[in-house]
Amino acid sequence: MAQFKYVYWCVSHQQYVELSVRRKLRDQQCCKIVKLNLTRSKTS
Ligand SMILES: [Zn+2]
Repeated sequence: MAQFKYVYWCVSHQQYVELSVRRKLRDQQCCKIVKLNLTRSKTS
């Protein structure tokens, strides 16, 4: 069973962005934010 996890990464500042501030950063600082999916794959 694969578990999907998503994180938001600000390309402009090279740091993680929390969900709560993602919209705020985009509006105020015009950050370029990308959505990264961290897929935890099970190795068997
Ligand atoms: Zn930023």
